[in-house]
Amino acid sequence: MIYLDNAATTLQKPPQVARAMAGAVGRLASPGRGGHPAAMEAARAVYGCRQLAARLFDARPEQVVFTLNATHALNLAIKTLVRPGDRVVVSGFEHNAVMRPLRGLGARVAVAGRKLFDPADTLAAMDEAIDGETAAVVCTHVSNVFGYRLPVEEIAALCRRRGVPLIVDAAQSAGALPVSLERWKAAFIAMPGHKGLYGPQGTGILLCGRPPAPLLEGGTGSQSRSFSMPEDLPDRGEAGTHNVPGICGLAAGLGYVLERGTAAIARREGALLERFCRELAAMDRVRVFAGPSQSAVVSIQLEGRDCEEAGEALGRLGVAVRAGLHCAPLAHESAGTLEAGTIRLSLSDFTGEEDLRGALEALRAMQE
Ligand code: PLP
Repeated sequence: MIYLDNAATTLQKPPQVARAMAGAVGRLASPGRGGHPAAMEAARAVYGCRQLAARLFDARPEQVVFTLNATHALNLAIKTLVRPGDRVVVSGFEHNAVMRPLRGLGARVAVAGRKLFDPADTLAAMDEAIDGETAAVVCTHVSNVFGYRLPVEEIAALCRRRGVPLIVDAAQSAGALPVSLERWKAAFIAMPGHKGLYGPQGTGILLCGRPPAPLLEGGTGSQSRSFSMPEDLPDRGEAGTHNVPGICGLAAGLGYVLERGTAAIARREGALLERFCRELAAMDRVRVFAGPSQSAVVSIQLEGRDCEEAGEALGRLGVAVRAGLHCAPLAHESAGTLEAGTIRLSLSDFTGEEDLRGALEALRAMQE
C-alpha cells in the first residue's frame, strides 16, 4: 500500500518505536505509584520522554504534559483560558478539535484570515480582529486540509504585543517544522504524538506556558493528602495512570526526530511535495490547492468526480488518502470547498519518490 494519509496518523514508524513499547509492557509499572524498581524505572522512562520533548520544543521538562491526543491537549488549553461568552479569535483554518470545544463553551468566535497561502492576509486579519475583549487567540500552525503554513511566529509576536494569550495547534507541524514554547511564549502549544513525532496513537502533548486548569481530577502519585489537584506542573494536567508503553514509544519517536533534525525532515518533505504538486498540476482535470507557504499536505479535486468516491477508488488502487472534509469544515468554508470536499494526500519522512510516482499513476488511471 502507498500510504499518503500521514496527516491523520503516521503509519510507518521508526522500528525503535514498537520495540520501546514492547519493552515497556511487563517491565515498567507506573511513575509515582511506588518506590519499587518497576515504578522507579517507569518514572525515569516517562521523565526521559519529557526531557526529549522539552529539548525539541524549547521548553522545560515539567512544562510537558502528556495527553491522549491533540484533541485532549486542545481541550485542556481552551478550557483553561476561555469562559462562556468570551470572545476568541481563530484563524479560518481551524480543526473541529478547536471549533467544537469553543462552541461547547459558548464562546463568541471571530474568524480572522480566510485566504489560503496568504500569510500577510492572515496576519493583518488577526491584527484587526484582536480587540480589548479578546480572551484568547487559537491558531493552527499548518492547515490539516491544505498544508497552508500560517505565520505563527508573527502571530505569536502580535499576541505578545497585544497581551492576549495564544494557543497554537501544532498537530500538523510538530516534528516537521520548528515549534518553540520559549520563542513564541505561547500560553499553550498542543500536539499529537502519533503524527510527525512518530509515536503511537493514544499519545499527545500539551506544552504549558502557564498551569492548565485540570480537565480530569484524580490521583497523581503526588501530594496524596490533599483532596485538591496539585498546583505544580506537570501533575496538574495529568490525573490518573499514564500510558507508559505509549510514552515509551513516543520517546523513541521523539528521539528519531531529534536525530534526523526537524530542518532536514522539513527540507526533504518540502522538496518531495513541490515536485508532486508540479506533476499534479500538469495533469488534466485535476485542481490542485498549492501555494508558496505549504507544508507536506496537499488537497486536490478531480473534475467530474465525487471526492469520497474518488478517495475510495484510490484506496482500491492501493493508495491510502483521506477524502471529504477532514474534520475541518471551517477550512473548507474558507477555501470554498465545503460543498464538494477535497482529496487530501499527506507525506511523512517515510514517504518516498516511488510512493508519489505510484499515486500519480493511480490518479492518471482513474482519469482515463
Ligand atoms: N488539529 C489538527 C490541525 C489536526 O489535523 C488534528 C488531527 O487530524 C487534530 C487537531 C486532532 O488530533 P488528534 O486526532 O490527535 O486528537
